[in-house]
Amino acid sequence: MVLSCSDSRVPIELLFDVGFGDLFVIRNAGNACTEGSLASIEYGLEALNISLLVVLGHQGCGAVAAACADHVSLSPSLSQLVLHIRQGLVKGAVPLDPDLAVRRHPVLTAQQLIGSSQLVQDRVNSGALVIEPACYTFDHGKIEWMGSTSTA
Ligand SMILES: [Zn+2]
Repeated sequence: MVLSCSDSRVPIELLFDVGFGDLFVIRNAGNACTEGSLASIEYGLEALNISLLVVLGHQGCGAVAAACADHVSLSPSLSQLVLHIRQGLVKGAVPLDPDLAVRRHPVLTAQQLIGSSQLVQDRVNSGALVIEPACYTFDHGKIEWMGSTSTA
């Protein structure tokens, strides 16, 4: 199961060298922990008994860049999503570097998924689910793995 950004430059099946129908993929702008993504992940756990979740961010993510910017004009729904991403990233009023933020955001999203769902938390605690935050970089065409996220 993969939670990724909607960005078309991140072709999930090609990146993981699998066929269509092999992965359970949830996408939204900025691979964020939203009610919708969380509900889809819970479906993947309960109905499909999936044991691995990759939270995949990417270099040059527009949603994360917007979250790092001081002032951007966005629609109400997109503003809400970007604000959610920003709240996870910002510590005080420290300016955010988008290149660092795209690496940090998948880790924060993984932590938010665990903190927002008893089912996700229970599966991680029992070892039935491993969450792997990662970041895809276009420059090198590689996935940088950030280390498994646990509740500890
Ligand atoms: Zn993106």
